[in-house]
Amino acid sequence: MKLLCVKCDEAMKFKDAEGDSTDGSSGLVFVCNKCGNSFAMLINQMEAQLVKSLGVQVGGRKEPAQPMEMIKEALVTGEAQKPGSVSWDGDAEERLKKVPMFVRPMVRKGIERYAADNGLSRITTDVMDKAKQKSGM
Ligand SMILES: [Zn+2]
Repeated sequence: MKLLCVKCDEAMKFKDAEGDSTDGSSGLVFVCNKCGNSFAMLINQMEAQLVKSLGVQVGGRKEPAQPMEMIKEALVTGEAQKPGSVSWDGDAEERLKKVPMFVRPMVRKGIERYAADNGLSRITTDVMDKAKQKSGM
């Protein structure tokens, strides 16, 4: 987000933030370094949260802002292992890579289901063999 001073066509610098604790709204103050013109933007609680969730800390932050912060976090959470899910042995993982790409997710799922059904938490090549025999893959 960038605010331009209309007069100078200069990017305005973030100067101050005034939070209102009663309704959660915030006033953001920007100032133009060239002419000293200041500009205040009033944002409501929802917008303030949106700005914060985008990694922009009202009042400025020391390290450079990372606009993808929220999305990154969401991805990390999405990849988190579900409770009770199985883990793959290095060798088993290698062997799975030899399976053609288009059937790999199906094979992976089948083996994971076999492991879950049999109370196995770790998939080894041995488990793969057994799952294969059982499913006829
Ligand atoms: Zn200006």
